[in-house]
Amino acid sequence: MKNLAERVAKTEASGIRRIFDLAANLANPVDLSIGQPDFDVPAPLKEEAMEAMRQGKNAYTPTQGGRELREKLLATTFKGRKPDELLITGAVSGGLLLGYMALLNPGDEILVPDPYFVMYKQLALMFGAVPVMYDTYPEWKLDAAKIEPLITEKTKAIIVSSPSNPTGAVYSDDELRAVAERVKKHDIIAIADDIYEYFVYDGPLARIRDYCPDHTLTLGGFSKSHAMTGWRVGWAVGPAELIQAMTKFQQFSFVCAPTPMQAAAAAAVDYPMDDFIAHYKKKRDRIYNGLKDAGYDPVKPGGAFYVFTKTPWGTGTEFVEECIKNNLLVIPGGCFSERDTHFRLAYSAKDETIDQGIEILRKLRSR
Ligand code: PLP
Repeated sequence: MKNLAERVAKTEASGIRRIFDLAANLANPVDLSIGQPDFDVPAPLKEEAMEAMRQGKNAYTPTQGGRELREKLLATTFKGRKPDELLITGAVSGGLLLGYMALLNPGDEILVPDPYFVMYKQLALMFGAVPVMYDTYPEWKLDAAKIEPLITEKTKAIIVSSPSNPTGAVYSDDELRAVAERVKKHDIIAIADDIYEYFVYDGPLARIRDYCPDHTLTLGGFSKSHAMTGWRVGWAVGPAELIQAMTKFQQFSFVCAPTPMQAAAAAAVDYPMDDFIAHYKKKRDRIYNGLKDAGYDPVKPGGAFYVFTKTPWGTGTEFVEECIKNNLLVIPGGCFSERDTHFRLAYSAKDETIDQGIEILRKLRSR
């Protein structure tokens, strides 16, 4: 169609869709592909959303977000930050879109970890910017010495996502501190995607914003931590000038995040989710030990709910096609990487599904 903008062809369709098409005929697959929690929003938080609707909180909020959620975040997670440094967004995806829009001119470069969450690359292409991949294989390390040579005068930002999708990697204090030094030295912005910040299993989460607060755009939200993927609420916190630019673009696009969901999210900020997280830690151990026992060699993920591990034979695509023939749904590494050597398992699933998946993988270990 001649009417479509060039950015349509520049943006690649998600490879994940092809896998779901391949799997469409499976009646009851062992599904380790889904990147969202297997629990539902806690009942009291659902009640908060319904109560907000009953009270008539159904109209627009101000573009920067409703008072309750803003005040709660500024009094807790972001104590000490100024009101003009916070924007309530249509979840992290909305924050990423607005952040890229505010930072990237056509031809500008953004450093993206490889493996990556698909949006990091595709949004750059959508805006005519250049995603420059920094390699984190084979152990998913953030290596400032490898990253620094990739920084040019066109580099505007670097994505730092910890815990990571698809690897589950959690970066150490030292790794983040070293990258923060480069961020400050080259005056670029670190975009910290904190969507999995609750799903951390082996100690406290280090944060790049602690080492370069004036150069960090933190994006977070409730989609994964509170199973609110469909509610579309999150936040962006960063330098006031950047947040105000993003607010201007939100005014002309999303307008505001969904109002009743913002009200419920205010109650979610300090709602205890520890039991859910403890449950996920057990699942992490279950899948990691199970994969080792089945002859695979995964790096132990410190967070999120993914394992990204090397195929025993063939490319990621070839191996996953065989998995699907055997009723197991996982995603080839090539959907998240410039390489197609690994596959991603999501363990946000029932224990018995994890066990069934491991048994299928054990059989597929050798061709
Ligand atoms: N960032 C990462 C790393 C993700 O894995 C996802 C969802 O899968 C998102 C952002 C999008 O999250 P949201 O629902 O907050 O837009």
